[in-house]
Amino acid sequence: MAEMEAAPTAYFEGKFVPTGEAKVSILTHAFNYGTGLFEGIRGYYSKDEDEILIFRLQEHIDRFLRNCSLLYMDLPENREDLEGICIELVQRSGFHEDVYIRPVAYKSELSLGPKVKGVESSFCCWVIKLGDYVEINAGLDVAVSSWRRISDNAIPARAKTTGGYINSALARSEADQAGFDEAIVLREDGTVSEGSAMNIFLVLDGKLITPPQSADILIGITRNTVMELAQKELGLEVIERPIARTELYVCDEIFFTGTSAQVAPVRSVDRRLVGRGEPGPISLKLQTLYFDVVQGKVDSYRHWCTPVK
Ligand code: PMP
Repeated sequence: MAEMEAAPTAYFEGKFVPTGEAKVSILTHAFNYGTGLFEGIRGYYSKDEDEILIFRLQEHIDRFLRNCSLLYMDLPENREDLEGICIELVQRSGFHEDVYIRPVAYKSELSLGPKVKGVESSFCCWVIKLGDYVEINAGLDVAVSSWRRISDNAIPARAKTTGGYINSALARSEADQAGFDEAIVLREDGTVSEGSAMNIFLVLDGKLITPPQSADILIGITRNTVMELAQKELGLEVIERPIARTELYVCDEIFFTGTSAQVAPVRSVDRRLVGRGEPGPISLKLQTLYFDVVQGKVDSYRHWCTPVK
């Protein structure tokens, strides 16, 4: 799993403090009930400019704020504050490497009872160094999980709640224990949802296919990025539609997308080879393009990168 070398400073209870001092009580509501929600944002280090480019910061904060509304998280920090805290933390980190920023909103009250309305909320944020989270070159060996994705009417996957990640953790650990790199999780109706912490795309007859927003997925910012790049830069048709399990076994290519996973090709599902059992040509083209974009090398997408010196 990912190395956790944290920056010396975190944001906690309205202040920048040494990360080691950012601690919550065991009575905290979010600790007991999983009532937190979070974001995961990457910053890519550019050696030439000696700066870190935070990728799609605004879109991450947008999603975060929407999810805060869903869970009645009334934070004292506004949008500008949240973006500013992420930027300042990267500055204060002193890292000259790729980073991962984790903003968290959580029910911070020391109170009993699982509810979201009328429970005090707080915001905190930390930064770590982060290289590749999964293997992105050879292709992943993945398995369909026996666990089902949490449904929108149970724990909305789109909300990126801390408690909801028990579902991801169970699926990922089952895959690990069976000797696979990653899991593909199906919905209760048997159609494909996503990976444990990543969205999924299939290539079938030269078209990109991905489950729709209503398929109990986290609506990924990388998903959105790859869809835009595929359409605008590679002229590919992108179709959002339910995906049957067996399509995983007959399609030409599969890859995952996510802030941590980036663009990660899949080479087998349930020990059946995907295509020729190696990263496919469309996956590789999109992966190359994605890395050029996040590293600020494509002028027309430079507005997605927030430079931090
Ligand atoms: N699905 C899940 C369950 C995730 O945890 C993530 C990672 N945040 C993703 C998809 C990918 O989302 P994004 O591209 O916004 O990181």
